[in-house]
Order: sequence, then C-alpha cells, then structure tokens
Amino acid sequence: MTLPRIPHIVAGARHDAHSTRTAPVYDPCTGEVAAYVPLADAVDIETVIANATAAAPAWGARSALDRARVLFRWRELCLSHADELAQLISREHGKVIADARGELQRGLEVVEFATGIPHLIKGEFSDNVARGIDMQSMRQPLGVTAAITPFNFPAMVPLWMLGPALACGNAVVLKPSERDPSTAVRLAELFHEAGGPPGVLNVLQGDAEAVNALCTDPRIQAVSFVGSTPIARHVYETSARHGKRVQAMGGAKNHLVVLPDADLDMTVESLMGAAYGSAGERCMAISVAVVVGDATADALVARLADRVRGLRVGASHVDGNDMGPLVTAVHRDRVMGYVAAGVTEGATLVVDGRTHPATQGAGFFLGGSLFDHVTAEMSIYREEIFGPVLCIVRVDFAAEALALCNAHQYGNGVAIFTRNGGAAREFAHRVQCGMVGINVPIPVPLAYYSFGGWKDSAFGDHNQHGMDGVRFYTRVKTVTTRWPVGADAASFTMPVLR
Ligand code: NAD
Repeated sequence: MTLPRIPHIVAGARHDAHSTRTAPVYDPCTGEVAAYVPLADAVDIETVIANATAAAPAWGARSALDRARVLFRWRELCLSHADELAQLISREHGKVIADARGELQRGLEVVEFATGIPHLIKGEFSDNVARGIDMQSMRQPLGVTAAITPFNFPAMVPLWMLGPALACGNAVVLKPSERDPSTAVRLAELFHEAGGPPGVLNVLQGDAEAVNALCTDPRIQAVSFVGSTPIARHVYETSARHGKRVQAMGGAKNHLVVLPDADLDMTVESLMGAAYGSAGERCMAISVAVVVGDATADALVARLADRVRGLRVGASHVDGNDMGPLVTAVHRDRVMGYVAAGVTEGATLVVDGRTHPATQGAGFFLGGSLFDHVTAEMSIYREEIFGPVLCIVRVDFAAEALALCNAHQYGNGVAIFTRNGGAAREFAHRVQCGMVGINVPIPVPLAYYSFGGWKDSAFGDHNQHGMDGVRFYTRVKTVTTRWPVGADAASFTMPVLR
C-alpha cells in the first residue's frame, strides 16, 4: 500500500513538494507509519515565500473589517469541522479526542478575539499638537511573517499566531511540526474555503532547513516560534541577527506549590489533570509538586499513588481513556530514560509507568510515573521531561518553595494551592514566572490576555495573542499633518510645542 504524502499549501491549494526528502508520520496508537511528510528543499521554500510575498500587499490593503469577516467565516467553518479536526489532531499526536477538541476550542478563541481587529488596530489621534498641526499614529501590517510550531498543539499554537497575524493584514508562512503536520493543511484549506485569498496563508512542510530559511530570508519580516528552549534560542538569535522581529517561546518545568492548608481533594484532582493530561506533553503541564511539610506530602503522595496507578491509558479515540500514547517511540524512550535516571539519582519511584499493561502493545504508550523525595540537583527536576512523570519535592517552609521556583531555569507557568489569600498574593507577586495560578493548576491566559513565560521559557519582547499579538504583528507609523493656511517663517531650532 502506498502511504499518503502530505502536501504543502501554496497559493490556496495543495502543492506536491519538489523535495524528495521525507519524514515518517506515525499513528502513535499502533506504532505504524501512517504517512510521509516532505521536508522542504530550497525550491519549495522559494515557491512558498514568493507566493506569500506576492499576496501580502493586497491583503494588507483590505479594510480591517473585511479581513475580520473572513476570519469570522473561517472560525465558523473550523467549528463545523471540529470533529474532523479533533480526530486529525488525535490521530497524529495521540492525545484523547476530548483533549483535542479542547485545544481546537482554545485556538479558535484567539481567532474569535482577532475578529475584533477593527477596534484593536485603531491608532491614536491628537488634534492641534501645535498651532494648526495634528498628529496620528496608525498600526500597519509587517508583510510576510513566519509561524513555526511544535508537535504538542497542532491546532492551538498555529491559531495563536494565525489569528492576529492574518487579522493585522499579514501573509503567513506556517511551518508546522513534522511529527503531526496534517492539521495545519486542513486549517489552511478551511481558511481558503472561508474566502481567504490564495497566498495569504501558506503551509511549508519541513525541518531545520525550512526553519533556518525562514529565519534568514529578507522577505520574512517577523518570526513567531514555539518549541523547545534550545531551538527557541537558536531561532531568536538567528532571526534577530537578520533584522527580524521575533518572539520565541521555549520549554518549561512548571511547579505547583502545596501549602499545608490546601484543600487536598482539589489539589489531587488538579495534579492528576495537570501532570498526566495529554500524557504530560503540554508546555503548561505540572511536572513538579513542591509540598510544604512532611505530613502534607505523605497524605498527598498516598492519594496520588492510587490515582496514578488507576490512570486509564489506551487508544486516543476510545472514550473514557485519560491518556493516549506519546507522540513517537523516540520521545517515549526518552521519557523512559528519565524515569530510569530518577531511580539512579536516588528519588523514590512510587509508581513506575514503564510497567503499565498498555506498554505491552505496539503503540507508543507509557503509564504515569510518580516520584517522591526528588531534589533540586536531580536531572528529573532540572530538565523538561515532557511526559507523564510527576516529581514531588518536599520542603519545610513556603519560602523554600518560592526560592525553588525562582531559581529554576524555566519560568513558564506556576501554581500555588492554599486557602490563605495573603500567602497566595505574596507568592503571585514574588514568583519569577509569566503565568501564575492560585488554586488553578494550568493558568493558561484566555485569548484576550497574552501567553508567555519568563527566563528560558521565552525570548523576545512580545507574548502570544491578546494585545501583544496585535503589537507584534504591526508596526506603528506616526503622521504629523499641517494644511497650508499661511506659511510660518522657517525655523532652525528643534520643533517645540507652542
Ligand atoms: P521542537 O523544538 O523540537 O520543535 C519545534 C519546531 O522547531 C518544529 O517546527 C521543528 O520542526 C523545529 N525544529 C526542530 N529542530 C530544529 C532545528 N535543529 N533547527 C531548526 N528548527 C528545528 O519542539 P517540539 O518537540 O515539537 O515541542 C515540544 C517543546 O515545545 C517542549 O519543549 C514544550 O515545552 C515546548 N512548547 C512551549 C510552549 C510555550 O508556549 N512556551 C508551547 C508548546 C510547546
């Protein structure tokens, strides 16, 4: 049987790659290769960038209301295809269908926010800044922008970027993850079905070669990246060196601090969803619980252990499963390597996901693992595992928990569970992280706020979506106007207000 070859999207249509390099796309539930994705060569890259460059000016010249109407129709079409899109996401990524629907909804909320562009993009106006002179600022599109996305949210992260970039009047080259590239193709097709002009939203399938071209090509004005920290740093440095605007979101190690007065039921439920949902393959997953006091830690670990053992791990399309497989065998093996390292380093492995019955099949399954007595020197604490592994770190005082969060390399999300409003407020104020939850384990900001971490979790000045998205995808022009109603004499000094 010949396996499907996933296309690029160029000029509003499917486009067979020129490149003969390919990568396999797996069905992670069966472990079998389901399709091949082309890895763009110089010809493919040139075709896509040239098309986007040709389409950008006309799209940017349309009224903001006109662009908003296209986005409106696109959102409606995506919603009416939600089942198909969720299945596509789940089939290549491995997350359960309900989770795939959730990510689609969160992504479409950004498109919904972006339909407010006529209001969001309004400039400022000052009448009579000096005698007979008015001043106005306006936001204009950048031209062609690049969106480079990770495997773990094949719909939501592209939509974070596409909503504001397109609404602001830019053309986009979307380079999805080569591990689950099909959702991007369908999103782009639906954009064109909604009336999006050919060339405005393009999909370039590829790997490092495509990414490096997007970071260096002079026709690309801005690069938005989400992925792991080493690549985020590379994309940030390369794009900036080539004079581009760049936002590059990286990895994470999100802590959840449990104070002794926390509601334990709420904490257990929250930790289960936040650590093991989507098999831990979320940049906002909780991978460390810092528990204040041994009594609280003993009670928490005892309750978590039963729940982790009881996780329903199996095929993503089967209703009722909590967790599907990991995305690839390579990634599953990497996560298993961390579980082995934790044991070697001296942490207590309370539940070993490597022995879960689901691991016996052909898919890339792994059960949930739970470590207790993890310390800050261990690799399982320091490094991002990106799998279903939760580490419990025990401390004596709340101040130690805060110090741990602040000393960590990453600063994406963090949460504190407590009934003490003063303690929570103080923590939220002092913690060095971009997104903070108080009794909320995964504090992902809604579309009209902006998403972004601190420290090595993000490089660049603008967050994703919210008003930061509009700022990132536009540049400001300020126009000063005077009409001839009698010329003043020439002035040779710096203009000052009179
Ligand atoms: P990744 O860094 O491997 O890949 C991301 C993108 O970079 C892909 O499109 C990939 O093709 C490209 N890429 C990979 N290697 C490259 C190279 N050497 N040179 C140039 N480009 C390259 O990330 P991933 O494994 O797909 O995604 C998981 C990571 O993304 C995790 O670290 C996770 O924390 C992070 N993530 C962060 C956020 C956030 O907002 N902070 C959100 C989602 C995921």
